[in-house]
Amino acid sequence: MQKVAIIGGGIIGMYVALKLKEKGFDVFLFDKKQEKDLGIKPCSTLVSERIRRFISVPDDCVENVIDGCKINFPKKIVELDFNPRHLVLSRDKLIQEQLSLLKENGVNVLLGREIKDIPSQYDYVVGCDGPMSLTRRKLGLKEPQFKIGMQVFVEKQDKASFTNVFPIKSGFLWQIPRSNFIEYGILTSSLKSKEMLLDFLEKQKIEAKNTVSGPVPFSGAGMIFSKDKRVALCGDAMGLTKPWSGGGIIWGLYAADFLVRNFPDFEKYEKETRRFFEFKILKGAIANKLVNLIGFYIPFLLPQKINYDNDFPDFIKPLLI
Ligand SMILES: Cc1cc2nc3c(=O)[nH]c(=O)nc-3n(C[C@H](O)[C@H](O)[C@H](O)COP(=O)(O)OP(=O)(O)OC[C@H]3O[C@@H](n4cnc5c(N)ncnc54)[C@H](O)[C@@H]3O)c2cc1C
Repeated sequence: MQKVAIIGGGIIGMYVALKLKEKGFDVFLFDKKQEKDLGIKPCSTLVSERIRRFISVPDDCVENVIDGCKINFPKKIVELDFNPRHLVLSRDKLIQEQLSLLKENGVNVLLGREIKDIPSQYDYVVGCDGPMSLTRRKLGLKEPQFKIGMQVFVEKQDKASFTNVFPIKSGFLWQIPRSNFIEYGILTSSLKSKEMLLDFLEKQKIEAKNTVSGPVPFSGAGMIFSKDKRVALCGDAMGLTKPWSGGGIIWGLYAADFLVRNFPDFEKYEKETRRFFEFKILKGAIANKLVNLIGFYIPFLLPQKINYDNDFPDFIKPLLI
């Protein structure tokens, strides 16, 4: 049986591990975190219901269901009706659920094991080791561009079914109702993310101090593929996130599916993934700039309400109606 090492037990690494095991490989999943910390990472885990096409999401992982989003431009609020709806998930519970599944299905899970070099004793290695991927670095590949994502939580019941987004020149701020908490956050390319987030909260008279943050690769700068016939990259490690929101879970799962389907033909994986994403990334990056420009400078041109697929949006069509 051919042996595969997966580096990184995030959502993408776990998905790849399970699917490759089902395909008959002997799979070893490594993560530097211990089991109790595995699900802990700065991430809102706000994802469309498409996640259920890939992984099982028990109801107790769902903190809230989101029907849409209000984009608060200075002089106009645009309502996006999410189609499909979104789920606010407990990342910790979701990861623990996937971990049980991996163990039940015979994946060798090795936690508390930081990988320092690409392991040589496996037939194949998949780097799912997140935005600061060691696998990517050891392969000598280019680094992605990064934004910073930062969150802060306020203890307050809020079961609203919509999120709020506040665009700024260098990104956006958000507010997500998580049932027992309200999450505020910022995604920005500015180095002043913390000041910007705290300033925003202060203006709204919201008291919050303990921020958590992490790097978010910006796929507008292009995806990164390994040319090594034994080693592949997937998820944040390949720099794949939605360029307008930084969301990487659904797109990462699509890429993971292409990887598993073509495994171990990494050239085919690259071809299929490029074919699927490249135009979407370009379109998303341009359209995001366009919508922000119109929203800030000629907001009356934007419609009040838009039926919106937040994973694969068509930004242009709604603007033409
Ligand atoms: C503040 C913030 C909010 C976000 N909100 C959302 C959101 O609402 N929706 C969404 O879709 N996306 C969101 N994202 C992005 C999302 O978190 C990532 O796209 C997604 O988690 C990527 O999954 P992954 O499995 O590729 O990597 P990760 O989840 O980063 O997993 C990588 C794993 O690899 C392990 N690892 C790393 N190096 C090594 C090593 N050398 N040896 C062993 N193990 C290693 C790490 O411990 C980690 O467990 C957000 C990001 C941030 C920062």
